[in-house]
Amino acid sequence: MDARTSDIDILVSEVGPRDGLQSIGSIMPTEAKKAWIAAEAAAGVREIEVGSFVPARLLPQLADTAEIVAYARTIPGLTVAVLVPNARGAEAAIASGADKITLPLSVSETHSLANLRRTHEQVIAEAGAIGRMIAAQPPGLRPHFEGSLSTVFGCTLEGPISDAQVGRLAAALMNAGCDEVGLSDTTGYADPASVRRLIALVRNVVGRGALTGIHLHNTRGLGLANALAALDCGLTTLDASLGGIGGCPFAPGASGNIVTEDLVFMLEAMGLRTGIDIDRLLAVRELVAQALPQEEMFGFLPDAKLPLGFRSAPALEYI
Ligand code: ZN
Repeated sequence: MDARTSDIDILVSEVGPRDGLQSIGSIMPTEAKKAWIAAEAAAGVREIEVGSFVPARLLPQLADTAEIVAYARTIPGLTVAVLVPNARGAEAAIASGADKITLPLSVSETHSLANLRRTHEQVIAEAGAIGRMIAAQPPGLRPHFEGSLSTVFGCTLEGPISDAQVGRLAAALMNAGCDEVGLSDTTGYADPASVRRLIALVRNVVGRGALTGIHLHNTRGLGLANALAALDCGLTTLDASLGGIGGCPFAPGASGNIVTEDLVFMLEAMGLRTGIDIDRLLAVRELVAQALPQEEMFGFLPDAKLPLGFRSAPALEYI
């Protein structure tokens, strides 16, 4: 964990404005997105993935990403993250001033072809172009570059992916100029044992410092169990979505990403500092629910409330 986040133990990266919103039918008005991002940052969230630089015809929900990045950059202390599908998206992301760029690489080539219409070789070439683009920026203005190994716990089209292929692609992303790789359970196939296994496998290839984060979905109800396994392995960045927005069309009752509110509760209850004020976070949920009246929101803490006598992890000065 770097100096930016050194007063916390775990970085909770909010991905609702990207992963959540891209998965639902409603289009959230730009002003409502800004209010969401501002309120969540004010609650103590340090990193928010605010959008994706994809053509608006593909994802009209995220068409205002450049404007959202420009706004989010005005919030002090917030790391503004975006997803990009290719070098062209990265160019827009760099121009917008995003702090962190994530390029997904589906380790299943069938999935990669179906989703991005690109082979592995083509995606790695895009990663290389992005790496060079970032290196050409003046020092201090270079966004952090993460290659995300998506469908790494299994693919809905191919099933399990071989360890050799996962290792080869992790190495290729690092060689292409990524600062780190992340694990992404796009399909909700992960379980705690496979989380431990994949972390060890990828660390073996890229080194411990180049794998710090994981992106989990709760499709089969194992989201928090998987998060705990990742914590036990020493990962320090966990993606989550407020209200678990997005859901899963094939699994009624299942949230999309793991639910930020429940994750923060688990971490703080365990004594792990997130820097997030749970009461303020729950208030943000109300704001988002009002802006998305058609959408279902998930999570247990918002209904059950905090346990009597609950105390958040103590801030550093009190230890
Ligand atoms: Zn996702």
